[in-house]
Amino acid sequence: MLYRTEGIVIRSIDHGEGNKIVTILSPSIGKQGIVIRGARKPKSRYASLAQLFTLGDFSFYKGGGLGSLNSGEIIDSYRGLREGLDQAAYASYLVELCDRAIQDEDAGAFLYHQLHAGLTAISEGKDPRIVARLFEMKIAAIAGYAPMLDACANCGREDGTFYFSAAGGGALCALCRHRDPRAMELEDGVWKLLRVFSAMDMRRLGNIAVKESTAKQLETVMRRWFDHHMALNLKSRHFLDQWERGEDFFKPVP
Ligand SMILES: [Zn+2]
Repeated sequence: MLYRTEGIVIRSIDHGEGNKIVTILSPSIGKQGIVIRGARKPKSRYASLAQLFTLGDFSFYKGGGLGSLNSGEIIDSYRGLREGLDQAAYASYLVELCDRAIQDEDAGAFLYHQLHAGLTAISEGKDPRIVARLFEMKIAAIAGYAPMLDACANCGREDGTFYFSAAGGGALCALCRHRDPRAMELEDGVWKLLRVFSAMDMRRLGNIAVKESTAKQLETVMRRWFDHHMALNLKSRHFLDQWERGEDFFKPVP
C-alpha cells in the first residue's frame, strides 16, 4: 500500500550497501521507519532527504512494519541547525527524545508540532537551553510523567514554600519536604518558568532571557526528573552535559 505524509527525520542509520533506514515523525501516522535505497551514495537524489532533522514529504510503500521510499521531496532541510555545534547538539537531543522517550502510540500530531516548533526555534537563534527545557516538559507530559507543580504532590497544599522533588512527584511543601532528602530549594523565577513550561505550547515560545543561575537550576531540575522517571541514557545528552556544565572544549587547559 502506498502512503504519503510529511515528516521530520528523527533517526537515520546506515543499512546494507549504500542504503539508509530513517525514522520519521509525522502528524498523521506517528513514527515510521522507511528504507531509502541508495541514500548513502554521493549522487543519490535522496542523500539530503535522509539526513537527521530534515522535514520532508515522504511517499512510501508499506506492507509489514518498515516502509520503502517511493519518492520524496525536502520541505525544509533546517540548514541553520547544522551550522553551529551547539545548535546541532540541542537539535539532536530533541529528535533523540522523540525517538527514545515516546512510545509509538503516543507519537501523534501534538508531538510532531512540538518538535517542528522546537527545531524552528533553535534554528532561529532562540536560547537552545530554554527550548530544550520546554521541550523536556512537553515530552514528560506526553509520556505520562508530568511533574505536579501547583500544589504539594504529597498533601495537596497550595500555598507556602515549595521544594522540588523528583522522587516525590514535583513540588513538596515545607511539611512534606522530609520525605525526600534530595528535595531542592529553587529560585522563584525557576518555579515560575517551570509552571509556564508545563502550560505552554512550543509554538507559542517567544524570546525568553534568563539568568545563568536560573538556566542552571532549570537544567538540574529537569535532569533529575528525567533520570528518576525515564532513565533514558541518551547519546546526545552526554554531549550536552559537558556543554551545559561549561566544560570547555575549545579553551586551552591552564
Ligand atoms: Zn505537603
